[in-house]
Formats: sequence, C-alpha cells, structure tokens
Amino acid sequence: MDSFRFGNVLSLYYQAREKKQPSQLDLLDVWLPGLIVREVESNGNTKREAEYQDREFVIDAVRYHGSFYAGSSKRVSQITGRLIGTAKGNQEKERRTASLIQKHLAGELVTDFEVVTRLQETVKDQLSHLQGKAHEAFYVSLYTFIETCINERKGMDEYDRLSELFPMDDEVFEGVLYNAVYQLEQVTEDSIANGYLWLLLGTLLRNETGRLVRLYDSSFIPIRRQMSETNEVLDKLFYLLKPQAYQSFYEGDDLDQRFPGIEWYCDHCRAHLNEQEGFDDHVHSWKCRVCGYLNRIEFEEIYDNEEDWQNGIHRHGKEDFERALKQRLAEKGSKGNGSK
Ligand SMILES: [Zn+2]
Repeated sequence: MDSFRFGNVLSLYYQAREKKQPSQLDLLDVWLPGLIVREVESNGNTKREAEYQDREFVIDAVRYHGSFYAGSSKRVSQITGRLIGTAKGNQEKERRTASLIQKHLAGELVTDFEVVTRLQETVKDQLSHLQGKAHEAFYVSLYTFIETCINERKGMDEYDRLSELFPMDDEVFEGVLYNAVYQLEQVTEDSIANGYLWLLLGTLLRNETGRLVRLYDSSFIPIRRQMSETNEVLDKLFYLLKPQAYQSFYEGDDLDQRFPGIEWYCDHCRAHLNEQEGFDDHVHSWKCRVCGYLNRIEFEEIYDNEEDWQNGIHRHGKEDFERALKQRLAEKGSKGNGSK
C-alpha cells in the first residue's frame, strides 16, 4: 500500500469541497497550470486526441466543453495515471516517461523561482474556495493523511519501499512531511497553502522532490541547506507536532554564562556574536562589531533555528530552559563532590 500519491492528496480537497474530482488532464491543469498539460488549438477538430510530446515533457490537448479531451490515447492515460497514482501496473515505458516528467518539472522548480511562486498562488486560490467547516475538515484531513502515510511506511520493509512504482528515499519522504507540517502548524492562509503544496509536489514528484527539499526552506524560500541538517528529520517532525513531549536538557559546562549553550547571531547581518571580542551574555544588549546593530540579549530572543527566528516561533518556555540548567548544575554539583 502506498497512499502517498498525488490523487489521494487532491481527493482530500475535493471531498472537503464536496465536489467531484476532475479528470486526470484537468486535475493536472488546475493544480499545475501550463506545466504538464498544454492547451492546443482545436482547428475545428474538437475531439483531437491528447498527445504526449516526448521532447517537451508536455501533453498537448484540446478543450472540449470546458474540459481537456484525452480521447482514447492509451499512452496519455497511462502516463497521467502513473503520475497521479490511479494506474498501478508497472508498464516500464509509461513509468519511465512519467519519471522523466517528474525530473523535468523538479528541474524547473529549482531553477525558476517564479514557477514556485505561481504554484503558491494557484494553491492559495484553490484553497480559498474552502470556507468555515469545509476548511476545518480539510485541515484535519491533512494530518490524518500524513499520519496514515507515516504509519504505512513504518510498516513496510526495505523490499516494499524499493519496489514501489516511484521509490522514495527516507530522507526525501521525511523532508517533505517535515516541511508540510512546519507550515501547517502556523495556521495562516499562506502557510496552509505552502503545507499543501509540499504534499502535492512530494506525491507528484516523489523522490525528485529531494532537490526542492535541499534548496528551499519550508516556505519555499531558497536556502543553502547542508544535507546533514536533515538527519533524524522524523524526530524533528514529532517535535513540531508534540513539543510538550520534549524537554530541554543541557550538556555543556559554560554555566558561568547567563544563557549557556546558546549561540547568538546578529539580527541584522547574521554575524556570530559569541565570537566577537568582549562578548558577554550578561549584558542585555550587544552592539554587533560588524554592522553596529544593537542586538537584544534576552530569553525572548532565543529560537530553535533560523526558520523559527524568521517566523517568530518559540517552542520553549522559560521554565523549561531554567529547569534544564538547574538539572545540569545539580549533575555538576554531585560530580564535583565525588572528585574532591
Ligand atoms: Zn551585525
């Protein structure tokens, strides 16, 4: 079983809207306008069969009564069926074609930021049709979907995972879900659209989404992320969902500091303040020696990571921080007595 498919992500939306899910070509056109399906002139032949153009990675189709007409082209329906997740058979030629489309599209998304911006607008626009209870039901269904996919994957052995139609590396799968949940948890119009876009792209592009995960932060702003930063991402995902289940602890020895173990960066130029000459975290503000910006050195300015800082998200209470320090002081105290 592999529920992590584009068609399933979209069915959550159409169920919430109580609307019939459009046919394959229309579905791709609505959510990825101009990227996979291209409208061609009918030239009087309104029932011209849809045709896949190999060298352009695009399906040419005519509109017939407002919808794209696929005709009886087996090739087109086999390709779209594989992308969306409705066709199961492993017919190598179509699978290969679908994977070329994935590669090509991922390439566009990492080289042309405007395409990503356009997709964000498209998704936001679509989601604006969901109001009140429908939107609530949709939002909840995303979490159920994510949970289902995680549990399903946990239950698969290596053979199952590698023999999927479009196998995904753990790192990519988890990276997509982490970004999606990170955005969903912020519960703004933009962030929910971003979260949904991660699920859409993750299920459509499958392992090719890895290129996006490495290039973009969760809000699709380009970053330079080290591969190693995505380690143990499933643990980070649970941390986003259940921060109360995690307690801070401190292992260091610089207990003479006011905020042991905390690295300070200039809010203006991002210079590392701890390294600057004369830096002392007992002061309540520090003038950056690089740019002169006056940085506040207070508990309220401590964030888990750069993205939380940008979004103004705090996950730790002051009590948690102080408890971790007390615990460390107690540990040190007992060790100190032993050695003296
Ligand atoms: Zn600075």
